[in-house]
Formats: sequence, C-alpha cells, structure tokens
Amino acid sequence: MKNSADLAIAEPGTSGWSSLVHVDCHVHELLLRQERQERTTLKLIASENFASSAVLEATGSIFTNKYAQGYLGERDYAGNEIIDELETLAIGRLKSLFGSEHANVQPYSGSPANQAIYRALLSPGDKVMGLSLAEGGHPTHGWAGNFSGSDYQHVPYGLHEQTQQIDYDRLRETARRERPKLIWVGATAYPRVFDYAAMAEIALEAKSYLVADIAHISGLIVAGAHPNPVAHCDVVTSTSHKSIRGPRGGFILSQNEDRYQALYHSTSKYNLARRIDRAVFPQLQGGPHVNIIAALAVALHEAATPSFRTYGHQIVRNAKALAEALLNRGYDLVTGGTDNHMLILDLRDRPLSGKAYAERLAKAGIFANFNMVPGDRRHPALTSGIRLGTPAVTSMGMREGEMVQIAAFIDLVCRKPDDADVHANVRRDVADFCTAFDVPGISDR
Ligand SMILES: *Cc1c(COP(=O)(O)O)cnc(C)c1O
Repeated sequence: MKNSADLAIAEPGTSGWSSLVHVDCHVHELLLRQERQERTTLKLIASENFASSAVLEATGSIFTNKYAQGYLGERDYAGNEIIDELETLAIGRLKSLFGSEHANVQPYSGSPANQAIYRALLSPGDKVMGLSLAEGGHPTHGWAGNFSGSDYQHVPYGLHEQTQQIDYDRLRETARRERPKLIWVGATAYPRVFDYAAMAEIALEAKSYLVADIAHISGLIVAGAHPNPVAHCDVVTSTSHKSIRGPRGGFILSQNEDRYQALYHSTSKYNLARRIDRAVFPQLQGGPHVNIIAALAVALHEAATPSFRTYGHQIVRNAKALAEALLNRGYDLVTGGTDNHMLILDLRDRPLSGKAYAERLAKAGIFANFNMVPGDRRHPALTSGIRLGTPAVTSMGMREGEMVQIAAFIDLVCRKPDDADVHANVRRDVADFCTAFDVPGISDR
C-alpha cells in the first residue's frame, strides 16, 4: 500500500519521477559541471575519448541489472537467453572486425584483461618481457609496483638511444638469452607503429607467447590506420574506451589453439581460447557487466562503418599536424614526430617539469598528462614530458587547421607558464574555440 509520501516521489509514468535531477540533485549538479567542462575544454589526454550517445544509452540501460555469470550455454543464472544473443553479437562483431578466431568481451577493463593473460598462460615466477614503464610500457607489462612485476620475473626491453624507437635488435638478443615465456608488444606512451612481424619472429625463436596490448590503438587498427597484430600474435588484449570509442571496459582476442600446448600446458585439457575464458571467469571475475557488453556491441557496430574509417585516419592526420605545428614552434618531440594518435613533448631542456606544464595547461582549459621521456632525469612523479593525443578532439570534428590553433594555445601557456592573465585569456579563447564543435554524447543528447 502506498502512503502519500511514496506518491510524492514515485509515480511511474509521470514527469521524470526517477530522473537523476529529481533523485539526487548533488550528483546531477556534478554531472552538469563535468559536461560543461568537457564542452569548453580541449581533451588532449591520449587515452580519453567521447563515446557516442548510442553507446552511452546502452551503458545506462537496464542491462546493468542482469546477472549473466558464466558463458553462453553455461550461465549460473536463469533468464539469460537475450543476454546470450547480446554477448554472441558483441563477440561476432569483434571477431569480424579484427579477424580473430576467438573473443572474450567480459574483462572489466584493460588491466583485468591483462591479468587474465597471466593467469591463462603463465605460472607465478615465470619470465615476462615488456617495454619498460619509463620508456612507454604499461604497469601491467611487468612494472615492480604492479602484480605483474611482483608475481612474475620482469625482463624489460627498451628504446634505441638515437631513434627513441623500440630497439628490435637488442630485444632479439635479450629474448634469445632470457627465453621469456611471454613477450608483450604494446604501450601506453609510444608514438610510433609496432613491427608485429619482427616481434613474431623474435617470439617464435624464443618459444615465447606473443601478446599485443592494443588498448590505445584498437580504434586505429579497426580503421586501418595502424597494422593489425592479430595474425602475428597468440593473444591480443584491449580496452574498449580509448580510440575505439566504446564504454569503459576490455576485451581479449586470441587464436583457438595454443601453439605451445605440448611445451607449456601438456597437463591442461583446455586449449588456448578456453583457458583464457576460464581465467576471466571464474578464476578472476564474477558476473560480466552486461550493460557494458551491450554498449561495446554498439561501439563495434559504429566502428564497422566507413565514417569510422575516416575518423581513424583523421586522428592520425591530426596528430601529425599537431606534431608539425609544435615542431615549427621549436618544441622537441620524442622520436621527432608521430605515426599514430599521440605525441610526446620532450621538455627536458625547459625550466619546469612535465607535471608543472600539465597543471598550467589545465588552468588554460587544455588537458594533457605528464609523462616520462627517454633519458628523463626528473622524478617519475614530475617527469620532463607531456603526452598529447588527438582521438577526443577528432571525435569533436576538428581537423588539421584546428591542430595548428591548438599548438598556438599550448605555446602561449608554455612560454609564460606562471602568468595568470595568459591562463585566463587562453581559457576563454579555448572555450570560444570549442563552441564551434559538437561534443558527442553531450551536445547531441
Ligand atoms: C590504458 C591501458 C591499459 C589499462 O586499461 P584500464 O582500463 O585503465 O585498466 C592497459 N594497457 C595499455 C597499454 C593501456 O594503455
């Protein structure tokens, strides 16, 4: 039975009885402030993007309510027939976009996806090679402060001193000597294309699993703007929220069969694909986030369109244009430029740290993150670099001309980093500049 207080707040079918603004004005107000910030600032954080309204709608849908623990045909809960169709749809779209034999869409994010690879392929104490954190690797590739560095033996590889690109010759020597059981190819701060064929040769020689982590570049790969590692690797992991513009989540692609089954897993009755699935659930996770799987399916549908191809190539063209404009203004870039969606400003000979410049840029409405550069003498919490990425501004519809203007904004702030008038003026100009563009998920809702 309803009393009058219930009726006052909950009358289904009447105006917005359950909408956020009526239920929780505090969170609603924070959301409006965040929307305003995102509409009026430049999001140059290379790992961030704007998901479409359709992706957001699926993320915020009633699929969030369903428990679907398990896999197709072996769920632990009743009523999952529709979810079976949904997960099958997402898996099918992934397999056809990337050309993989197997896909798992249940990882909660990129780091849990990588954790599942350790569970599926290795035993604690096994040797793993990955690009060192200081030179662009991800913490889950063996950094000492992460489980991957404490539970496994990390053998780092690095960049060539002159080219600042991956030193494949030294990597080959190290792999020959160390015989790691797994080699990661992928990075969180690396502005060049990976040579997956060279990595595959090296891994084959050392009898190592080769795992590509494409968290940053999965959207570029789908668009054909970066080589696809699937044919060269045993496994590929990714986030779904960076350049591919999906919801915050992760996925894993793999071959079905394990080429080292006899060597490393002869006592297991499961093939590679099955071991990965079992590592995700039940070894590491419980129920998958069904709303995220729905939103991933939507994002993959969008990523299969010709306009996404154009988008991916425009991301790279924009990064190259931004790089050139900054070089013209006298800035140094790690590797001297970019082949992908990001560039790394080398600020070693500048008075302030990367962190200090990132803070000053933020005051002016330009968001980027500080980052180590090769040969960095500053503390990792300060660094001498700034990482800039173009996926988000490209989602807003910006092109090469806008990149030249963005370089000018960055230069204004970096020339007078402690001038509050400069911060205020650039902040205002950036806001004006942004109003000419639609922000997906915000201005089209
Ligand atoms: C972002 C990223 C991840 C981790 O993703 P989360 O979703 O933040 O856990 C893993 N690997 C690489 C290379 C990344 O850039």
